[in-house]
Amino acid sequence: MALRLLLDKLSFYLEAKEVSRVERAYRFAEKCHEGQMRQSGDAYISHPLAVAHILADMRMDHESLMAAMLHDVIEDTGVTKGQISRRFGRPVADLVDGVSKLTEIEFESKAHQQAESFQKMTLAMSRDIRVVLVKLADRLHNMRTLGVLAPAKRRRIARETLDIYAPIAQRLGINDIRLELEDLGFAAMYPLRHRRLREAMKAAKKNRKEVVTEIHQAIEIRLDKEDLEGTVKSREKHLWSIYRKMREKHRSFRDIMDVFAFRLIVNSVDDCYRTLGMIHNLFKPVPGEFKDYIAIPKANGYQSLHTVLVGMHGVVIEVQIRTVEMEAMASYGIAAHWEYKTGHQGADVNQRRAARWVQGLLDMQLQAGDSLEFLEHVKADLFPDEVYVFTPKGNIVELPSGATPIDFAYSVHTGLGNSCIACRVDGQLTPLSEQLQSGQKVEIISAEEAQPNPSWLNFVVSAKARSAIRHFLKHQQHDESVDLGKRLLDQSLSRLGTNYNQLKKSQIKGLLKETGAKTFEYILQQIGLGNRVPFAVANLLVPAAKRKPVKRAKTRHSRLWLMPLMVCCCSMPAAATRYQEILSSAISRRVKA
Ligand code: MN
Repeated sequence: MALRLLLDKLSFYLEAKEVSRVERAYRFAEKCHEGQMRQSGDAYISHPLAVAHILADMRMDHESLMAAMLHDVIEDTGVTKGQISRRFGRPVADLVDGVSKLTEIEFESKAHQQAESFQKMTLAMSRDIRVVLVKLADRLHNMRTLGVLAPAKRRRIARETLDIYAPIAQRLGINDIRLELEDLGFAAMYPLRHRRLREAMKAAKKNRKEVVTEIHQAIEIRLDKEDLEGTVKSREKHLWSIYRKMREKHRSFRDIMDVFAFRLIVNSVDDCYRTLGMIHNLFKPVPGEFKDYIAIPKANGYQSLHTVLVGMHGVVIEVQIRTVEMEAMASYGIAAHWEYKTGHQGADVNQRRAARWVQGLLDMQLQAGDSLEFLEHVKADLFPDEVYVFTPKGNIVELPSGATPIDFAYSVHTGLGNSCIACRVDGQLTPLSEQLQSGQKVEIISAEEAQPNPSWLNFVVSAKARSAIRHFLKHQQHDESVDLGKRLLDQSLSRLGTNYNQLKKSQIKGLLKETGAKTFEYILQQIGLGNRVPFAVANLLVPAAKRKPVKRAKTRHSRLWLMPLMVCCCSMPAAATRYQEILSSAISRRVKA
C-alpha cells in the first residue's frame, strides 16, 4: 500500500532510523485525522501521505517528511505545537507550525487571512527555508485534487497559486513544481481555453514531428563528429507559458509553435561552450539573442547557455545548453542535493541565495503598512525577468527588468536610495527614470541632505525601492504635519493671549478628554493635515474666562493664506491632497535651497 511504497522510496537515500521516524509521524497523523475525509471521499491521511511522496521525489530529508505527515494536524485536529514538539522534536514542530494557517483569529475577510498567514509563513521561512518546500508540496497535491471543490473556491485557490506559489517555486528554482502548478492553475482558472489550447497543441505536434526529427538528427550527428558526449532533447512548451505569451506579447499560437526548442545536456562547463561553438557553426545564430547564464546565473540560481538560430527551411530554433548538474538544479532548484546539505557547494550557494531572498521579504514586511500591502509588494517582487548591472567596483547587481537607477540605489542600500540625487550610467549622466540594460555600469551620486521624491513611485519597479520610498514619505509627512500643526496652533493661541510654549499639562489633558483623541501629537497632526481648525483647538485649550487681551498689531499675517485652504480641506479630500502637494513641494524647495 501507499505507505509501503513511500518507505521503500525513502530507504534509498535515508538511514533506517530516519525512515522509522517518518513512519512514526505517519502513524500519529493517521490517528489524529481518524474519521476525517477529504472532499473527494478519501480518508484524510491520503493527503499528507501524498505530500510526503512529492517531497520524497525531491529527496528531502526526514524532518521535512515528518512535517509533511503532520502538516495539517495543528490546523485540522486538536493537537498543539507543544505536543508535536515533545513527540517529534522542535524542528519538526516549527515546520508544521510554519505551514499552518492562522485560524484562531477572526479576520475581516478571506484576503486578510491569506495575507496574515503568508506573513507568518515568511517569518517561519526565515528561520527554516524547508517550510516553503513543505508548503509547495502541500499546494501541489491540493491543486492535483482541485476538481472536487466548488467552482468559486477552485478559482480562488488557482488564482492564489498562479499569483504567489508558482512564482515562489520559480524564485527558488524548483521548475518541475512550478510548471505543474502553472498548468493546473491554468486549467482551473480557464478550463475552456486550457482545453482548446491543449487540443491545438496536439494537432500541431503531429505536423511538427518531421522537422523536429530532422533538426534532432542534425545536432546529434554533429555532436558525434566533434566527439562531444551529450543528450539532445526536444522541448515542449508548456500551455500556461504559451497562453501568457499569446496574451502579453500579442503573438499568435502559430507564431509560437513556429519556434522549435531543444536542450543539450553535456558533461562539463567546458563542453557547454564547445557545444555552443559547434551549434553556431551548424546553424546561423540570430544576433543579440545569445545569453550566458553560466557566467551570470539568474537570481534563482539557474544556469544555462541560451541561443537562437535559424535552421533549415528558415525555421527558428531555440537551444539551451547546460551540464547534467545544471539540469538537476533547474528542475529542483534549492531542493537539489538537499541530502548533502552543507557539503555540496552548489547547494550551498543556492541556499544562501534563497536566504538572501527571504531576508529581502522580511525587510519589506517591516516597511509595509499591513499584511495586504506586504503581499502586494511580494507579488510585484516575484517578476521572473531580470537585468544585470555592475557597481563601480565591478560587483553584479540583479534587478527586475525595467529597473531604473533608483531601483539600483535601493538594492545596494536603503540609505543610498534615500539620498540619491543623480547617476552616471557607463560614465554618462543619465535621468534617474531611465530603464537600465544588462551589462551597464551604474554609479549613484548622493547628497546627505537629499530625500526621496514622491514622483519616483511612478517609475520604480522593485518592491524594495517602492516600499522604502513609501515608508520614508509616510514618516516625513507625519513629522511635517505635526510641525506645521504646532505652528498653526501657536498662531491661534497668540490671538488668545498665550502661546504654544506656555501650555500646561492640565490644559492638554482637558483637550484630550474633550476631543477623545489619544495623544496631543495626533491632534497637532490633524491640524497640520487640515482635518482640524487650529482656532477651534485653541478655543478648547483656553476657555473664554481665562483669555488675556491681545495687542492686535503683533499677529503675523504671513501664514493666514493657509486659512481658506484649510477650511475647504475639511470638506474635500481632493483639496486636502492638493494642499499636501503644495506643502511638500514648498518644503522640498526649502530643502534644496
Ligand atoms: Mn494540506
